[in-house]
Amino acid sequence: VYFQPKYDTVTEQIIGAEALIRWKHSSRGMLPPDAFIPLFEANGFIIELDMYVLEKVCELIATWAKEGIPLMCISVNLSRTHLYAKNLVEQLADVVKKYGIPPHYIEFELTESAFYEENGTLLQIMEAIKEQGFRLSMDDFGSGYSSLNLLSKLPIDIIKLDKVFLKEGEMQESDRIIISCVVDMAKKLKITSLCEGVETQEQSDYLKEVGCQMQQGFYFSRPIPQAVFENLIG
Ligand code: C2E
Ligand code: CA
Ligand code: CA
Repeated sequence: VYFQPKYDTVTEQIIGAEALIRWKHSSRGMLPPDAFIPLFEANGFIIELDMYVLEKVCELIATWAKEGIPLMCISVNLSRTHLYAKNLVEQLADVVKKYGIPPHYIEFELTESAFYEENGTLLQIMEAIKEQGFRLSMDDFGSGYSSLNLLSKLPIDIIKLDKVFLKEGEMQESDRIIISCVVDMAKKLKITSLCEGVETQEQSDYLKEVGCQMQQGFYFSRPIPQAVFENLIG
């Protein structure tokens, strides 16, 4: 499990991280998630993978708690394919209880596309996740058919603006307008905004100007191994 730090826009301090899986393959070297997650989603192994990542994250937070290191919220990606699995929420809660971690230190990221088929069941699942005390974020916002009307209906703490808004090169005026309006809308709905894929100072400065509260991207740090992350937070 690698960790990509999340930064507070104003203080530029690390205020959390996202857990991202890597596969050290014996002959093919380090595999990125895109190389195996679709397969795992198809064969069902993704449930075990996401549970494994959650365990690793809980283990880490529990170690920090024991060592007196200030705790921060770590997010875990939840594949949409097992959102509807029986007892999912109980399973998540059991892991966190096992490690004795206050659940608000765990955030689950649900990708925007998980919301397309919303039919009431998803809302119930999300409410159950919130009832357990976890945080919830809508990942990849803006990458597809953004569910604007669902933003006000679903119990979301954070929206993660997709990196599509931050293209290579100078920032486009149209992207600036969209980013500032989404951040504004989120603020009015009392949802925190985080922008992903920040690669340049220009982008970071713009996000500060429009009041996007959190940032994540190569400009600050790539996803890094646990030991490197722990060094970084000192
Ligand atoms: P994601 O959840 O949108 O994760 C963010 C991806 O953007 C990561 O790719 C990260 O390395 C990359 N990224 C971060 N900052 C920048 C930047 O400044 N520029 C650019 N170009 N890219 C940036 P990664 O680690 O390859 O993960 C790809 C996807 O695989 C993730 O997208 C997520 O959907 C999935 N994934 C990763 N780990 C897990 C996991 O444990 N469980 C599940 N279900 N999915 C996972
Ligand atoms: Ca994510
Ligand atoms: Ca994302």
